[in-house]
Amino acid sequence: MIAYLIGSFILGVVAIVFLLLYLTPIGPFIWAVTGLGLMIWGILEIQEALQPARTMAAAGAGPRAPSPGSVQPVAATRPFQFNLPEEIPTDLKCPSCGASIGPTTRRCDYCGSILQPAIDLPDPVHLSDLRVGQSLRILVPAGDRVYRVQGRALLGELWQATRGANIPWTFTGNLYAGFALQGTPNNAYLLNWQDRFYLFDRFQMVNDQHIQRYFLPYARAFGQSDQMGRVEFEYQGQRWRVVDIGRMQVIFTEGEGLHLQRGAEARFLYAQSGLTHLLLEDYRAGGAAQDMLWFGYQIQKQDIRYGSVR
Ligand SMILES: [Zn+2]
Repeated sequence: MIAYLIGSFILGVVAIVFLLLYLTPIGPFIWAVTGLGLMIWGILEIQEALQPARTMAAAGAGPRAPSPGSVQPVAATRPFQFNLPEEIPTDLKCPSCGASIGPTTRRCDYCGSILQPAIDLPDPVHLSDLRVGQSLRILVPAGDRVYRVQGRALLGELWQATRGANIPWTFTGNLYAGFALQGTPNNAYLLNWQDRFYLFDRFQMVNDQHIQRYFLPYARAFGQSDQMGRVEFEYQGQRWRVVDIGRMQVIFTEGEGLHLQRGAEARFLYAQSGLTHLLLEDYRAGGAAQDMLWFGYQIQKQDIRYGSVR
């Protein structure tokens, strides 16, 4: 309101000045020049109004690169979805020889026929030919163990491009295999992760409070060192060194005796104390899986001996 009154006042003063100037000898000349100037200004305004795109670009309203350090908000996403049927078929038979085959079998173990698997999943990185029902012998530091494969799981490896709560976890493309083994004196869990092989023959169920108290600070410290640092902790009277941390999702399971369920997603931690190895599985989502602590041995791939089922 005040700006409007001041504007009107200035306009009035200018008008009076122009009227007084008209009475002087150069008055009509000043009026002509002013009129011409106003006309040119008007034409320029109209031109600018007819070119909105260029005007906006000049004003810097176009797309801009995000400033460095700004965090793009990313919704937490499900890491990966294979196109798997809800009900995985069981009781499948080889069309050539009638032998029992699994839903992911690509080649019949008995007659060698090439099959179209009921579920098309990539093969695990290692132990792709070890199947439910097979017998195997495993060399551990304590001697020879004989087992039979009861169940098989394929675990998808997940990763983050950079560390951070808002960075989604995505599938690396690597599937690793885990096996529920039946044998004496204990049943066991045979697991390959990256280039490491483990035979876990003891386990303990744990809860979130237990994990937070005894493991989480060391998992964090190891993560903050980009998994390069030497991080050690005390647990059950032993000194453990963190070997690996990460995240995985259970993509597929078959057979019996497995502690994990399809779709379950876990953070994990591997640690070593002398010859004993430990795996902590902290399940997060996609199924009410039990958090587990495994103890056992690290073995070499050649310590796992098995032939064909034949
Ligand atoms: Zn066959």
